[in-house]
Amino acid sequence: MAEKIKLEVVTPERLVLSELVDEVVVPGLGGELGILPNHTALISQLKTGILTYRTGTEKRLMHVSGGFAEVLPDQVSVMSDVAERSEEIDLDRAQRALERAEKRIAQNGGDFDFDRAELKLQRAMIRIQLAAKGQG
Ligand code: ATP
Repeated sequence: MAEKIKLEVVTPERLVLSELVDEVVVPGLGGELGILPNHTALISQLKTGILTYRTGTEKRLMHVSGGFAEVLPDQVSVMSDVAERSEEIDLDRAQRALERAEKRIAQNGGDFDFDRAELKLQRAMIRIQLAAKGQG
């Protein structure tokens, strides 16, 4: 029986996190998915949201967006389009990205890609939420 979970988060750019933890909650497409050691094997698609992981009583948060999580009894492997630990997030940059996305959506020009603007908006909002928590 596994007592811990090896949590690995990777993007096409980098290894974001590799740590032994006690619990992981991922933002699945169908809702939050909580994982403790010895969870049944599964694969879940991910939406843009917050991944939470706990070691003992310490809870930490990160932003993930898209991709999927593969769950095994002793391991959770997250492959996401982008991911940042909350302490890596640049709040000013996220605020600027949010303003840009809001402007684009408001202007709604001719060759406007709504899905892309919406994705940028969601990522910026999650980043702001996490960065603000880190600073508060
Ligand atoms: P920006 O226009 O500010 O680059 P974006 O929404 O276009 O925002 P993404 O395409 O989601 O950015 O991400 C591109 C890369 O930049 C990824 O590696 C992502 O982790 C990183 N990144 C984006 N915004 C931030 C931020 N506010 N703080 C830290 N890293 C960020």
